[in-house]
Amino acid sequence: SMAEKHFKYVILGGGVAAGYAAREFAKHGLNPGELAIISKEAVAPYERPTLSKAYLFPQGRSCTIIRAEDNEMTKLIISDGHKVLQGSQAFMFVLEVEEKDCFRNGTQKRVRIELILSTEIVKADLASKTLTSAAGAIFTYDILIIATGSTVINLSDFGTPGADANNIFYLREIDDADKLVAAIQAKKNGKAVIVGGGYIGLELSAVMKINNFDVTMVYPEPWCMPRLFTPEIAAFYESYYANKGVKIDKGTLVTSVKLKDGRVLDADIVIVGVGGRPLTKLFKGQAEEEKGGIKTDAFFQTSVGGVYAVGDVATFPLKLYNETRRVEHVDHARKSAEQAVKAIKAIEGGKVTDDYDYLPYFYSRSFDLSWQFYGDNVGETVIFGDNDPASSKPKFGSYWIKEGKLLGAFLEGGSPEENTAIAKLARLQPAVPDLEQLTKEGLTFASKI
Ligand code: FAD
Repeated sequence: SMAEKHFKYVILGGGVAAGYAAREFAKHGLNPGELAIISKEAVAPYERPTLSKAYLFPQGRSCTIIRAEDNEMTKLIISDGHKVLQGSQAFMFVLEVEEKDCFRNGTQKRVRIELILSTEIVKADLASKTLTSAAGAIFTYDILIIATGSTVINLSDFGTPGADANNIFYLREIDDADKLVAAIQAKKNGKAVIVGGGYIGLELSAVMKINNFDVTMVYPEPWCMPRLFTPEIAAFYESYYANKGVKIDKGTLVTSVKLKDGRVLDADIVIVGVGGRPLTKLFKGQAEEEKGGIKTDAFFQTSVGGVYAVGDVATFPLKLYNETRRVEHVDHARKSAEQAVKAIKAIEGGKVTDDYDYLPYFYSRSFDLSWQFYGDNVGETVIFGDNDPASSKPKFGSYWIKEGKLLGAFLEGGSPEENTAIAKLARLQPAVPDLEQLTKEGLTFASKI
């Protein structure tokens, strides 16, 4: 029905931050009907990074997808730490649909959440605490958590002719991934062109190759992942990909679904991964913005009391570097969501929470590769280890040093302990007396800290 529905807490958006916020609420205890998640997507919150990785593997998707029957409110259970599947290839759901006796472990805490799926909010009035859906449904709240994430940048945003041609794919949500899976099956062993050399481009090129496509990557920059990778780091991945048979066309701008120099790349599938932009439009003029996001304090509260913003949309104080930043990565989506809910609960209990103290952490996986990065990629760099793309088990890293201090650390092929060690380095920012010595020591430098 179109009747107005009221909730104590509303999470707007059904992605990573929404899922982790809900889980944190569940830890603190929830009464039935207190919390609603409103999402444009037809599925419960899930781990979005899987969409460019295991979700597209040819051996099929070993995961359960929770879909809502029409627009009905679906009663959900949250169980503490419950994962349907675990590990790098798994598709993890933060929430699980209530079914009789569906829990293997009777001791798990059950919490009921209203999951309002396939529902796009088209109007938000923060003054009257009212959200309106495309279908005209009205939702009111006491506390709102904005978790609308990002939308992909479209080729037509640049006015690129041919941008609306068939078989051009983007990847943000599960619907996009499902369309891509259907195309992969329909165009078996065909040709794929991947536009963009960021982590989505690199992951998708690998996955299309694994699906036995003839793959060409096209990007305008002189090397891949230029916002993070140094030319030396990028050289490793580009050669590794070339050895896997991925063709790379660098320094080329796609100006139509044809290349600038007039060559036509014929392709059965074109996938565009050229970045995203935060979905803040609904709140324009209502909540303060900064650096392209919704400005928050160290508890993710916006300039409007009782309204929080988490994940990709939040511009928050990054304590470690004494500046505000917006971060579009999954680790921050999870942690910011948990921080916001902890703060909401602390206020209710008359307590204080610690400030958010985030250490930036990014990662990616493709083929047999896996890298992690912690900290800030500023200043001079050194590279160490075995970065021969032909090695059977390459393992190498890079450090970023500014004003005599180590600020950032990158590691390909690290063990969990080694990754923990480089994270610690980036957090502690030790003094680096000698770059040559640091290069020689490489990972040993991290293990000494
Ligand atoms: P999202 O997870 O995008 O969720 C936003 C939700 O809000 C969506 O469900 C959306 O439908 C909903 N929504 C938006 N507007 C409305 C509206 N008006 N009404 C109702 N619902 C709405 N990061 C990494 O660190 N490592 C990775 O390997 C990695 N891989 C990625 C792979 C892919 C394919 C993508 C797309 C992203 C990847 N990321 C990765 C980035 C990471 O997934 C995001 O930073 C993270 O999902 C942000 O979480 P969020 O909750 O802020 O937004």
